[in-house]
Amino acid sequence: MKIAFFGAAGKVGLALVPVLERAGHEVRGIEIGEEPDISGLDAAVDFTTPDAAPANARAALDQGVSCVIGTTGWDPQPLDAVARERGLRLFVAPNFSVGAVLMMRFAEQAAQYFPRAEVIELHNEAKKDAPSGTARATADLIGGDAVIHSVRLPGLVAHQEVIFGSEGQLLTIRHDTTARESFADGVLLALERLDSLPPGLTVGLDRIL
Ligand code: NAP
Repeated sequence: MKIAFFGAAGKVGLALVPVLERAGHEVRGIEIGEEPDISGLDAAVDFTTPDAAPANARAALDQGVSCVIGTTGWDPQPLDAVARERGLRLFVAPNFSVGAVLMMRFAEQAAQYFPRAEVIELHNEAKKDAPSGTARATADLIGGDAVIHSVRLPGLVAHQEVIFGSEGQLLTIRHDTTARESFADGVLLALERLDSLPPGLTVGLDRIL
């Protein structure tokens, strides 16, 4: 596929672009501030910032290009109608790592049997939003107003623990992302499945796993 990549020079972009190219995709990095002319491309991928992603997605949709978006900390819902009207796909996932999606799925199952849970999400200090999109999505799945604790420190990549407690027992479900290449499988899968999704907004990797 021919892909526009918003945020190609960022930490995730630098890890993902070579993997996408090795998988046979032709990737065009879009620089910040560039007026992107991406009409005719097959998809736009965005790993930028919560401030930039809505405008990037809107620009892609206006040019007839479906989107795969990993940027967290923004609300894609207002763009659902825009994508629908144009018969395009807007796929947004707070976490493209397959292991993290399984961690969320297992947490949802465990929540049926434990009365209380708290979420601890740990990310590199450069991460701009808190709590993380994955932590918020996990808390929604668990229900019961699970408290989220956010840790931002150098040395971390992306990690999350969900701790369940009941009388006399604890259950901890933990996922560690040790390298940003872990997001590549999910992005490749989203690109592969993009055309088979219904027009409009689809949220979450679990929807296509
Ligand atoms: P980062 O290192 O700060 O990279 C963001 C990049 O986007 C920077 O190179 C930045 O350029 C560029 N940028 C900003 N505005 C832009 C625009 N309007 N057009 C084009 N490029 C623009 O951040 P990151 O660690 O790569 O993370 C990026 C986003 O992905 C964050 O929201 C993060 O939370 C999210 N994320 C999601 C997942 C997932 O699985 N869904 C995984 C990891 C990260 P400058 O440096 O020049 O500002």
